[in-house]
Amino acid sequence: MDCHHFIDGREVVEPGARYLDNLAPATGEVIGRVALGGAEIVDRAVQSARAAFPAWRDMRPMERGRILVDIGRAIRAHAARLAEMEARETGKIMAQAAGEIEMSAQYFEYYGGLANIFYGEVINIGAPYHSYTRREPFGVVATILPWNAPLNQAARAIAPALAVGNTVVAKPSEETPSTLVEVARLAVEECGLPPGVVNVVLGTGREVGEPLVAHERIRKVMFTGSVRAGREIGRVAAERIIPLTLELGGKSPNIVFADADLDAAVAGAVRAFTMNAGQVCVAGTRLLLQSSIYDAFLDRLVPAVDALRYGDQDGAVFGATTTAAQFERVRRFHDLAKAEGAVRLTREPPEPAAGKGLFPAPAVYAGVTPDMRIAREEAFAPILTVLTFEDEDQAVAIANDSDFGLGAGVWTRDIGRALRMAAALEAGQVFVNEYMAGGIETPFGGYKNSGYGREKGIEALTHYTQLKCVTIRI
Ligand code: NAD
Repeated sequence: MDCHHFIDGREVVEPGARYLDNLAPATGEVIGRVALGGAEIVDRAVQSARAAFPAWRDMRPMERGRILVDIGRAIRAHAARLAEMEARETGKIMAQAAGEIEMSAQYFEYYGGLANIFYGEVINIGAPYHSYTRREPFGVVATILPWNAPLNQAARAIAPALAVGNTVVAKPSEETPSTLVEVARLAVEECGLPPGVVNVVLGTGREVGEPLVAHERIRKVMFTGSVRAGREIGRVAAERIIPLTLELGGKSPNIVFADADLDAAVAGAVRAFTMNAGQVCVAGTRLLLQSSIYDAFLDRLVPAVDALRYGDQDGAVFGATTTAAQFERVRRFHDLAKAEGAVRLTREPPEPAAGKGLFPAPAVYAGVTPDMRIAREEAFAPILTVLTFEDEDQAVAIANDSDFGLGAGVWTRDIGRALRMAAALEAGQVFVNEYMAGGIETPFGGYKNSGYGREKGIEALTHYTQLKCVTIRI
């Protein structure tokens, strides 16, 4: 099936359009084509969003919220079909795709409710004044999205932006655009979203992403993706003096103390780096083990990883790498591990035959020191590097010795230690005794090179509004 831009409430087919083949990474099949737009299509989408802005901004929040809740309901009504589309396009297993579609619905429901309660304040500065703040939308917001959790990340960015009265031009990854285009269509056709409030433009970062960020009518950018692209977008945003939310990569530490519930920690450590074939920005890919449990922990972890079913096996817990370029990056990461002298503790299955599914094997590397590149660089793959520490201070020092600061896990039965570690770790989210604990209600974002601004929770709404203070002499 061909996937087209969605502008002003309709699919748009450009005359003489160029297309990219849409490949199913689990089978190598061509499942359709994706339109490749350029600056002209971006301009059309932004003009549409601009035209839709005043009426959407001025709508009673309760009405806006009702439409968002209806979009959540539509996502639920079409959940099986959306999950199937997403699983095919990304190569993720159905259970993972279904969970992400469920979360996508939750974002619209949650922010649909919050639309009603996001107020300004009255500030008492004494007589004879009345002073108050208004939280106002920016106007047209651009959301630029990656391929690892396509609809989930789109919903995470778009729902709060809409809730407070912005209109949106979204650019999904050119590798995984289908579900977002479909939900934009459902939103207009089944939920009463006014045309132009959400537009979707398709194409590459260079040809569509760049002109979108540079467009004079874009007043805020939300970007999720690589540090490289985040930097480039940051430069343009600095030039244009527009606010930016950046959700970038990570190399998150997962720290296990000797007093932890080791069964739970082993299961948690496996899930932390293998979920979605490791294509999770907040994946726990640096395992820090207290030296007294180092051997015992690995004696349990390695067989657990070797026993995982993955790829196209029955009962697989994760599927394919979503893009061929990323699969190549995974291969290079293994070469790097070898070159740096790390020891692969887990089985090394034969490479998949060319043209077959892009299925990465899970891998655990020991013999790693904190200065090695494989301990510092993001692989975005089911690859775990294992390090060791003696005490809390050393655990904190190793964990924080990173350019990134997205997530951190701590496994301990000592509540005091959990609280000390949570305060000391340089990360936007700390998980104690359950890696990736949290929900759409919990704010999410990075420290350091992992980005700035926050998504999820009520906090996201502050990043999609600008604050105006009005003071009246009575
Ligand atoms: P990417 O940066 O290559 O692409 C992301 C999006 O940006 C795509 O839509 C792409 O077309 C577009 N793009 C690329 N260059 C651009 C430019 N110069 N201007 C405008 N748009 C541009 O990243 P990716 O390979 O799609 O995703 C993988 C990365 O995303 C990983 O590093 C991962 O950690 C990160 N990520 C972070 C989060 C988070 O919430 N922190 C979530 C998911 C993924």
